[in-house]
Amino acid sequence: MADDADISQARQEREQAQRDKARGDTPYEPPAGRAGDCDLCGEWCGRLVGGACAPCRDKHGLP
Ligand SMILES: [Zn+2]
Repeated sequence: MADDADISQARQEREQAQRDKARGDTPYEPPAGRAGDCDLCGEWCGRLVGGACAPCRDKHGLP
C-alpha cells in the first residue's frame, strides 16, 4: 500500500530521471578550474575558479 511518502518519493525519482534524461549524454562538467596558487590569499588550491580558491570565493561572494 502506497502512503503519501512513497508517492512523493516515487515522484521525486521520476523527476530526477527526467532531469537526467534532459541532460542527455553530456557528462557533468565542473566549472572551469585549475590547480594553482590563489590570486587572493596565495594559498595553493587544487581547484581555482577565476584564480580564486573556494574559501576566497565564499568570502568575496564569487561564483
Ligand atoms: Zn584563496
